[in-house]
Amino acid sequence: MRVLLTGGAGYIGSHVALVLLERGDDVIVVDDFSNSSPEGLRRVEKLTGGSIELVEADLADRAAAEAALADLDFEAVIHLAGLKAVGESVAQPSRYFRTNLNSTLNLLDIMRAKDVRKLVFSSSATVYGTPDADVDRLDESQPIGIGITNPYGRTKAFIEQIIADVQQAWPELEAVLLRYFNPVGAHPSGEIGEDPAGIPNNLMPFVAQVAVGRREKLSVFGDQYPTVDGTGVRDYIHVMDLAEGHVAALTHLSPGVEAYNLGSGEGHSVLEVVRAYEAASGREIPFEVVAPRAGDLAASVADPAKANADLDWRTTRTLGDACRDSWAWQTKNPNGFAPVG
Ligand code: UDP
Repeated sequence: MRVLLTGGAGYIGSHVALVLLERGDDVIVVDDFSNSSPEGLRRVEKLTGGSIELVEADLADRAAAEAALADLDFEAVIHLAGLKAVGESVAQPSRYFRTNLNSTLNLLDIMRAKDVRKLVFSSSATVYGTPDADVDRLDESQPIGIGITNPYGRTKAFIEQIIADVQQAWPELEAVLLRYFNPVGAHPSGEIGEDPAGIPNNLMPFVAQVAVGRREKLSVFGDQYPTVDGTGVRDYIHVMDLAEGHVAALTHLSPGVEAYNLGSGEGHSVLEVVRAYEAASGREIPFEVVAPRAGDLAASVADPAKANADLDWRTTRTLGDACRDSWAWQTKNPNGFAPVG
């Protein structure tokens, strides 16, 4: 298949590109490199021996999006492009809505004009908002959009709705919404991985930087939650499992819109992550407990049964595997994709 990856140069996209190339698909990436570099894709080409067609464009800019995609030939789109920093979205809501919604609207119009019917959308477990306290594993029948605590999350919920509405008007559209839980880890080669700009917002990249000595200690956001040890519980999914989930979704598309959780079904606390990372790295991770972070849930764990059954996909890698692979990436690339020194 010829697959267009929007935002394909980023953390998730580079791993999806790798899995697609290994399968023998053709990969075209459109990215504006606002939060990524082409270096990750160069490494994917090296790892796979494949080649990636790279187009630099900002999809939120209608004219630029049309110019970039007009002459490209592709049969399916995996739409990963978007701004994704929760805290930044609170400070810059209009930028988040404008970028994430306009790029999707432009893409959908262009797909329809070209009669490209296959779409896999990068959504997030954040669309479940603040679920009832008695729900311990989230399945796709949970309500969407209630109690989302930040504009980033609302862009994901709005885009899900937009895709559903567009499909109503264009019944041939084959769309899947993938609700990611917490992607972590890296390709086991340690050649590609997550390269956050500035201070990492997410737990595992922060822990990785503490382990490697780039930051002094981890701040644990609260230890009084009703969880196993009082710290927040999440469903961490290895980025290679997540990437394989996209390919599974791509091969199971049919007219309509279906949502799938991509998660392991297992929860781990912040302290469990710290211990797993210590074991994988052989380094001590100093931490201090601080106040809870505004808007955080006590726990968020997937029920992945629907994806397991319909997509014939399940996670095969553990939290320990993710820590090991993250550590390989971190130690081989202490400055991410930036040149050392
Ligand atoms: N967390 C933490 N310290 C950090 C970053 C995150 O204690 O520096 C906690 C956070 O409160 C949550 C878990 O780690 O319980 C995962 O947070 P992350 O930001 O990675 O993902 P999300 O909150 O989006 O699920």
